[in-house]
Amino acid sequence: MGSSEGHPRCSGSAHDAWSTPERRALRELVADFTAREIVPHLDRWEDEGALPRSLHERAGALGLLELGFPAAAGGVGEHLDACLVAEQLILSGGSSGVCAGLFTHGIGVPHIATAGDPDQIARFVAPALAGRAISALGITEPEAGSDVAAISTRARREGDEYVVDGAKTFITSGTRADFVTTAVRTGGAGHRGISLLVIETDRPGVSRSRLRKMGWHCSDTAELRFDGVRVPAANLVGAEGTGFRQIMVNFAAERLSMAVQAYATAQRCVDLTIAWARSRRTFGSALAQRQVVRHQIAGMAREATVARTYVRDVLARWQAGEDVVTELAMAKNTAVAACDAVVDRAVQLHGGMGYMHGAEVERHYRDARILGIGGGATEIMDEVVAGRLGLDG
Ligand SMILES: Cc1cc2nc3c(=O)[nH]c(=O)nc-3n(C[C@H](O)[C@H](O)[C@H](O)COP(=O)(O)OP(=O)(O)OC[C@H]3O[C@@H](n4cnc5c(N)ncnc54)[C@H](O)[C@@H]3O)c2cc1C
Repeated sequence: MGSSEGHPRCSGSAHDAWSTPERRALRELVADFTAREIVPHLDRWEDEGALPRSLHERAGALGLLELGFPAAAGGVGEHLDACLVAEQLILSGGSSGVCAGLFTHGIGVPHIATAGDPDQIARFVAPALAGRAISALGITEPEAGSDVAAISTRARREGDEYVVDGAKTFITSGTRADFVTTAVRTGGAGHRGISLLVIETDRPGVSRSRLRKMGWHCSDTAELRFDGVRVPAANLVGAEGTGFRQIMVNFAAERLSMAVQAYATAQRCVDLTIAWARSRRTFGSALAQRQVVRHQIAGMAREATVARTYVRDVLARWQAGEDVVTELAMAKNTAVAACDAVVDRAVQLHGGMGYMHGAEVERHYRDARILGIGGGATEIMDEVVAGRLGLDG
């Protein structure tokens, strides 16, 4: 258990939205859940390459998966609640990799919850929020990542069905998912030809293979192939041609979640490094007594604090309905930069131990690298900002 449990710097002031009595109770629940049901097993799940389904069922039973979803789809609370859960899970010894695998429904079913019909909500959203089904989001393809409008997976209408051909790659929870909310091309070239179709993974013609990667080892990642997969037209989410817009709308929540995971990872590494620097002795005294070390840790704490403060501010403004497209991109990049700098320093200050498999900072160092690539890469976020600054001409 880290020193961040009920950490005043992470809980916020007694008056802010992150510190209401309900949210303090939620924080305690997540800290307890993480300590009992995640931390003791995390190394094994990292080695196995996936989280067990029972963890989803347990999180669902505790009501952790429904947070931030609209009430009409069986949800409760605000996106802030889902972010608070991820933040506390990391501060309590979990990881962004656990968040990716356990909360994949956060990117897999929001489109269905918002634009889906009651039948789709009953078939897909309800079991995902209960932890009984695992969902995934399939957008990225071998030839199209940042450029979502360039996807080529084709869904051809035949009567009451679509016939899907194509491939998706880097899909989180893809080896375990029961269904994948998939970006498919139902129309012509460009963003207007894209739709969202839910594809159950047990349909004939679906094949998947596991991808190995640098970090997020407990979060399985897959390449998916669709070869003449027949999917009922009833699985189309919203109208044909609205897929790109739905994807862009939901990117906002995903980017905020990743920004929260980034500053929480940074804060966790600050806490771990403080504990280490106080106990590790070199040349007769604790590392914490060396001014160069103290100042580095002070800088790490500053970066984590500034990132947290800014991300929370943008989150609050986004929830209030303000146009924060620019700030949201800036917030993700700010938090990712803070995280990258802090995890690097944390490993360095842990010395050889920081490089050892099984050291928590080593895992955060590897896990952190994806945060500036997924959910809109750093360069794409800068492009959003540049466009908003009037640089498009
Ligand atoms: C672990 C992991 C999990 C993932 N999970 C999912 C998932 O669940 N579902 C899903 O659909 N996808 C997922 N992805 C894919 C992820 O969203 C993409 O990797 C990401 O969007 C970048 O796309 P790309 O890899 O094709 O890189 P590219 O788009 O090829 O970009 C390569 C580099 O060029 C830069 N670049 C691209 N265009 C420009 C430009 N115009 N100007 C300047 N620089 C540019 C990028 O920023 C990047 O640095 C995951 C990826 C990983 C690694």
